[in-house]
Amino acid sequence: MALHIVVCVKSTPSSMNIGVDAATGLPKTAGIPTALNPFDEFAVEEAVRLKERVPGSTATALTLGPDAAAEVLREAIARGMDAGVLVCGAEFEGGDSLATSRALSAAIKKLHAEKPVHLVIFGKNTSDVGAGVVGTQTAAWLDWASASAIKKIDSIDEQSATVTRMMEDGVDTVKLTLPACLSTVKEINEPRLPSLKGKMASKKAVFPKWTAADLGLEPGQVGAAGAGSAILKASLPPARPAGLKVEGATAAEKAAKLIDILVERKLI
Ligand SMILES: Cc1cc2nc3c(=O)[nH]c(=O)nc-3n(C[C@H](O)[C@H](O)[C@H](O)COP(=O)(O)OP(=O)(O)OC[C@H]3O[C@@H](n4cnc5c(N)ncnc54)[C@H](O)[C@@H]3O)c2cc1C
Repeated sequence: MALHIVVCVKSTPSSMNIGVDAATGLPKTAGIPTALNPFDEFAVEEAVRLKERVPGSTATALTLGPDAAAEVLREAIARGMDAGVLVCGAEFEGGDSLATSRALSAAIKKLHAEKPVHLVIFGKNTSDVGAGVVGTQTAAWLDWASASAIKKIDSIDEQSATVTRMMEDGVDTVKLTLPACLSTVKEINEPRLPSLKGKMASKKAVFPKWTAADLGLEPGQVGAAGAGSAILKASLPPARPAGLKVEGATAAEKAAKLIDILVERKLI
């Protein structure tokens, strides 16, 4: 038994200090350094752990983004993945999650035709747009089973996987027929740092670059033309009001003043 695992990874801004473009409603990312989406580190780690559990298995990282997004494929290789594929082209610009998942599913179909894929692993959500829907939408395009909020892969073979889903008030154990798509949560593992061997391999790695035409997609199916949603308005949360500092000569005086304030505001 050997598995072929695909992990979808996204290049996202590495700073949290980004604004929102009022015209497009998208994060203002120009000039901001990027890195592997933090939640995708858990997806990559899980694939590497599966490779260790099932010797002979291979793991391919897949990203849709600009040329610079190849860096997250390199990071995934440094963390133990075997190969990477970049889906890239001007035709993908302006795509929402529907268009993105359609393009990712076409790339997964192409990988599946080359070497059957058993499992596609996603992060919980991205740190920029963060809708948390691309995993399930990709599964829908593929017509494959899917499950989200996965905190454990209990068992797996080439035909099925039994997984544990983290629910708000407990856990579910679910059996999925493979191939399937899993969206993970950060509780699934503790990602390891890139190894020296991995870093060396990542430096040498060469990634195929697939356009919409390579994936058999029409221009109207991807990017802005293939989008099913539009951002009408986006705004940042209101700035927090300044805090209140309770002054006093002694701790007892400060505590008494604090109690007066809380009583006055009907908080106690
Ligand atoms: C109307 C509209 C226009 C947009 N235009 C642009 C634009 O011009 N340029 C732009 O950069 N963004 C654009 N976006 C944002 C872009 O569509 C989303 O970032 C993308 O669809 C992924 O959605 P998400 O970030 O919410 O991913 P989530 O659903 O939060 O991601 C879940 C998981 O899916 C996987 N994943 C998500 N995105 C990718 C990816 N690209 N490659 C591989 N795996 C992935 C990761 O594993 C991730 O953890 C636009 C969005 C909308 C709604």
